[in-house]
Amino acid sequence: MKTVAFITLGCKVNQYETNAMTQQFIENDYEVVDHTQKADIYIVNTCTVTNMSDRKSRQMLRRVKELNKEAVVVACGCYAQVAKEELEKIKEINLVLGNNEKKDIVQYVEKYIKSKIPEVQTEDVMHQKDFVEFGDITFTEKTRAVIKIQDGCDRFCSYCIIPYARGRVRSRKPEHILSEIRKIAKEGIQEVVITGIHIASYGKDFKKQYGLIDLLEEMNEIEGIERIRLGSIEPLLITEAFVNRLEKLTKVCHQFHLSLQSGCDETLKRMNRRYTTEQFKDIVALLRNKFEDVILTTDIIVGFPGESEEEFEKTYTFLKEIKFYKMHVFKYSPRKGTKAAVMPNQIDGNKKEERSRKLIELSNQNEKAYNQNYIGKEVEILFEEEKNGIWQGHTKNYILAHYKTEKNIENRIMKLQCIEAEEEYIVVNEK
Ligand code: SF4
Repeated sequence: MKTVAFITLGCKVNQYETNAMTQQFIENDYEVVDHTQKADIYIVNTCTVTNMSDRKSRQMLRRVKELNKEAVVVACGCYAQVAKEELEKIKEINLVLGNNEKKDIVQYVEKYIKSKIPEVQTEDVMHQKDFVEFGDITFTEKTRAVIKIQDGCDRFCSYCIIPYARGRVRSRKPEHILSEIRKIAKEGIQEVVITGIHIASYGKDFKKQYGLIDLLEEMNEIEGIERIRLGSIEPLLITEAFVNRLEKLTKVCHQFHLSLQSGCDETLKRMNRRYTTEQFKDIVALLRNKFEDVILTTDIIVGFPGESEEEFEKTYTFLKEIKFYKMHVFKYSPRKGTKAAVMPNQIDGNKKEERSRKLIELSNQNEKAYNQNYIGKEVEILFEEEKNGIWQGHTKNYILAHYKTEKNIENRIMKLQCIEAEEEYIVVNEK
């Protein structure tokens, strides 16, 4: 029996697609092993969101060959999709496959094993009109599964290469999504995370009027699923009508990751984001008024080209006002092939570092203050794993909780009391 190992870089969509490729190899009688072990085939599912992701992808591709000089090394995914010329030159790589080729990965690998002829296949995703289905997927996770509902993005933010790697918006048919979720519910998984490249665009390519909220309403009816979590969403998705319908869906978690990127209108404009800080503020107010327990998280880019001291100060002040639970802070890194990469006034690395530190500090303060608010309150946690005698899980609004118990409580939902709060988690116990 041949062995295969996977390395996944980047986002949750890649994670889902690795699960799908894993299933295909299992169905064809391969044994899946850890990527730190010797394997006959290594699949590196690459990411290209920053130049750093490219570098990391290349490093991984070289490193796996060191584990087995005879192994078949496959580079697939977003980096392979946009930079096949760079990967072709790396002698350790035997196959370069784009995003669409992932569904036929076993055939490509077997063809190579027979012929020993290296191949580069990256079908043009920009003209792809339909969502590519993978077929049945086995989820290795026990409590939470990531479900992909769409691919592609039509937004073209000036710093982002993803539309070129993933193509235009293609939505997955609701019946396929719902049957996949019914299947995992039968397996005992209680939480689903809805993911895609731009999930706010879900349904925009359908002939019928059917969007994300319609899909969520159908998901909410599935027996066995207790929690539905949305992946990163574009703020403009949140309208009064959307929130009014969302309010009725008891399983949807009140945790929203709204990608803000900057709290300064001039910077947002250069980023080609399509909202203003004023609109964003209204959206936050809408969510906070409707859902008392809502938790908002975000992504922020610091050091975007032309971000002056004054612009950064605007961002900082805005973030202090909004008070996100957590912020993922990224130092802008130019991505070849994007508009922002050739913009004037690129920001010095030290400046980016300094701004990033300032925002991370703010984020940590917010997280701690939020967590402290929970002391004495009852919370509902879905427990996921045990580490050194402490069980870890998340509340519905995604606060990490620690519980010391000797019982096996994996995949159990329990109501407990918060007795302590740390910066990154709360401690819970029985009442
Ligand atoms: S919305 Fe912008 S940042 Fe997000 S994938 Fe699309 S282009 Fe990239």
